[in-house]
Amino acid sequence: MTRKKGSLSLSTLAIHGGGETRRAGDPVVAPLVQSVNYVQEVGTGAGLKYTRYGNTPNAERVQRRIAMLEGAEASLVLSSGMGATACAMLALLRPGDHLLASAFIYGGTHRLFTEEFSRHGIDVTLVDPLEHRAWRNKLRKETRAIFVESPVNPTCRLLDLKPISYLAKEAGLALVVDSTFASPVNFRPIEHGADVVIHSATKYLNGHHDVLSGVVAGTESYIQEVLQKEMVWGQTPDPFALWLLERGLKTLDVRVRRQNENALRIAQWCAERKEIKRVHYPGLPSHPDHKIARATLDGFGGMLAIELSGGGRATDKFLRRLKLVTHAANLGGVDSLVCEPRYTSHAAMTSEARAAIGIPDGFLRLSIGIEDADDLIADIEQALK
Ligand code: PLP
Repeated sequence: MTRKKGSLSLSTLAIHGGGETRRAGDPVVAPLVQSVNYVQEVGTGAGLKYTRYGNTPNAERVQRRIAMLEGAEASLVLSSGMGATACAMLALLRPGDHLLASAFIYGGTHRLFTEEFSRHGIDVTLVDPLEHRAWRNKLRKETRAIFVESPVNPTCRLLDLKPISYLAKEAGLALVVDSTFASPVNFRPIEHGADVVIHSATKYLNGHHDVLSGVVAGTESYIQEVLQKEMVWGQTPDPFALWLLERGLKTLDVRVRRQNENALRIAQWCAERKEIKRVHYPGLPSHPDHKIARATLDGFGGMLAIELSGGGRATDKFLRRLKLVTHAANLGGVDSLVCEPRYTSHAAMTSEARAAIGIPDGFLRLSIGIEDADDLIADIEQALK
């Protein structure tokens, strides 16, 4: 499943970058340059380096690498996934513009679009992506961009980018894809017609639950626009976060492949248990988007969701009994985690409203780590009893 890009595969690019030469005496690990500012030449503004400008050594290295992994011309690392989404969209939209966004998006993104953007004169229409011709029907002459998240947090639904990217090209719109759940190991949206890719790098790209950061990838000229937003909205990460992110990238391929394997085994095991009413995992033939998953993904991912047969009343007992799978928000790291969207990302909605979008009480989101799958299954089994 390792993608070939030129002559180097994704796992090699993540470690070596492309064509970065090492000379005798060079450190094997890139040094952390924990300096905010740099000595500047007198009499010129050229070459001004400053951490907030996203042009320090640790920033430039990791940004080049991530662009290669996504098959983009350039990328920018920001201080969080939300910072990435905000700056990516503000670089595309002006007051009076209209955004078409999938209704199946992370709660924070939903708030940004519905509560903040209207204050900036940007109108947002949420689209049910499962509705036939919904995107086309909601299109206006002011529409500038389409935003989707796939796979969807927390339901693990997948969107077929083909018809959406076709419409975006036809109407001259930018197609923006939050690909956090997939990571470039499993899916690279630009290969499927996207113009812009967003990640919460807090998740798979870093992978160790110790860095908050976000990524925007796209064309060189567009990334320059995002950089202008990053600089004035103050969304640039600290060099240490960038250094840790680069270290995390080196193991991205092995981590995600192991997470793919573990999650598939756990999903198959959960599907056989009577205590579990439903399993949501794109790798199972029962998943409504299994065909899209088979056709477009290189791996089915480390995220899955289960619905306990006992509903909302059964979850407390189950969560208290778990010993390895830790009850905590966040996802995509080496430790397996579980969370209940009714108390986290979807806490603002009523129980009925959540159920209507496929998140009934008793719904648990699992982020499968790289532990031994048998140990994780044994942990879930003892917690179900
Ligand atoms: N996008 C998705 C799909 C997410 O799940 C999250 C966070 O959970 C974000 C964006 C926001 O990322 P961050 O928490 O790094 O700001």
